[in-house]
Amino acid sequence: MSKVLIIGAGGVSNVVVRKCAQNSEVYSEILLASRTKSKCDAIAQDIKNIPVHTASVDADKAAEVAALIRDFKPELVINVALPYQDLAIMDACLAEGVNYLDAANYEPKDKAHFEYSWQWAYQDRFKKAGIMALLGSGFDPGVTNVYTAYAKKHYFDTIDTLDIVDCNAGNHGQAFATNFNPEINIREVTQKGKFYKDGEYFEIPPMSEHKSVDYPQVGPRESYLLWHEEIESLVKYIPIKQARFWMTFGQEYLTHLRVLEDVGMTRIDPVEFKGQKIIPLEFLKALLPEPGQLGQNYTGKTCIGCQLTGTKDGKPQTYFVYNVCDHAECFKEVKAQAVSYTTGVPVMLGGAMMLTGKWKGEGVFNMEQFDPDPFMAEIGKWGLPWNEIFGQKFV
Ligand code: NDP
Repeated sequence: MSKVLIIGAGGVSNVVVRKCAQNSEVYSEILLASRTKSKCDAIAQDIKNIPVHTASVDADKAAEVAALIRDFKPELVINVALPYQDLAIMDACLAEGVNYLDAANYEPKDKAHFEYSWQWAYQDRFKKAGIMALLGSGFDPGVTNVYTAYAKKHYFDTIDTLDIVDCNAGNHGQAFATNFNPEINIREVTQKGKFYKDGEYFEIPPMSEHKSVDYPQVGPRESYLLWHEEIESLVKYIPIKQARFWMTFGQEYLTHLRVLEDVGMTRIDPVEFKGQKIIPLEFLKALLPEPGQLGQNYTGKTCIGCQLTGTKDGKPQTYFVYNVCDHAECFKEVKAQAVSYTTGVPVMLGGAMMLTGKWKGEGVFNMEQFDPDPFMAEIGKWGLPWNEIFGQKFV
C-alpha cells in the first residue's frame, strides 16, 4: 500500500489516476499536483475508493516539488507533466530521497532535441542516494521496450532488425488535433528522421521515408520513419543490428502540418509581436484542442507493436508482438482516448512494478533493463492485452 505524488493533470494523468485507483492493492493514496489545480480537482472528483488530494505546483521549480514531497511523503513521484520538467522533478526526488518515474525523456524548451544523456547523467547521484528512476514508462517508449526485451528473452538468440510501428487509425472528428501534448507532438514530428544500423545513426529529411504497413485489425496505413527515443536505449541495452520507428499519419494531418510549418507557426524561437515576445508553437498550442478533451466521439483503433527478425537455435525467426486499443472503449472506461490510455496504463503498471519490488534497483533505468515477464503477465489485465504473430513480416 503506497502513497504516490502524480505531477501533471492532462490526458495521460487522467488515465494514470483512474488506473492507480483501480489498482488500490498497490496505490493507497494520491497527491495530484499540476500547474492548474482545477484540472486536478476535475480528475479527483470521480475517484471514490482511495483518497486523491490536489495541489498546484510549478514543476519547473525543483524547490516547489520538493516541498510537496516533504509534506506528503510519497514512496514514488510519477511525472506525467511535460518532458521540460523531467530534470527539475528528478532534482526534487534526489533532494528528498524518493523514487521517480516518467513517460518521456527530457528535452530543453529552446531546442527540439530529445535524447537520454541528460537523464542518464543522474545515474551516479541516484545510485548514491539509494533511489531508483524508471524512464519512459508509457507505451512508446515503455511497452515497446518491454516487448523487445520479452522477444529477446524468449524467442531470439540474435536480433537483426527491430521495427517499432505505431498506428492511430482513429477519427476524432477535428480538422487538426494532436493526440498528446501539441507542443511535444509537433516538435517530435517536424524533426529529421533517424534510425540505427550497425553501430551508427543515420539521419533523413523529415517524413521522407514511408511505406504501407498492414496493421492487424486495422488494415494498410502509410507509415513514416521517425526518430523516437526508445531506439536510443534499446540499442544500448539489447544487441540489435538495425532499429527503426514508424508512425502513421493521415493526409489531412500532414497537409495541415505542412502549412503550419510553411507559415512559421511551428517555430520555437521567440518572435516580436505587439511589443512582446511570443513563441509561435506555444501560441498554436493554445488554439488547438487539448489531448484530454478529444475522447468523446473518438472512433477507431490504435495498433502499436514491435517486429523483430533474427535467429533462434540457428534458424531464422520473425516475430510481431502488438496491442490493439479502441478509442471508444477507452472513453467508456476512463473518459480518455486511446493514446492517453495506452500511455497511462503502463505508467501505472511501471509504478506498480517498482512499488511491489518486482523491478528494483538503485540508479536510473530504462524499461528493457528489467525482467519483462511480470510486466507482460499483468499488462493485459489492466487493459492492454497483447498478441503475437510468428513467421509473417509486416514492415
Ligand atoms: P497534456 O498537455 O494533456 O498534459 C500535460 C500536463 O502537464 C498539463 O496538465 C499541464 O498543466 C502540466 N504542466 C505543464 N507544465 C507544467 C509545469 N511547469 N508544472 C506543473 N504542471 C505542468 O499532455 P499529455 O497528458 O498528453 O502528456 C503527458 C506526458 O506524457 C508528456 O510528457 C508526453 O510527452 C508523454 N507521453 C508519452 C507517451 C508514451 O507513449 N511514452 C505517449 C503520449 C504522451 P496545464 O494544464 O496547466 O497546462
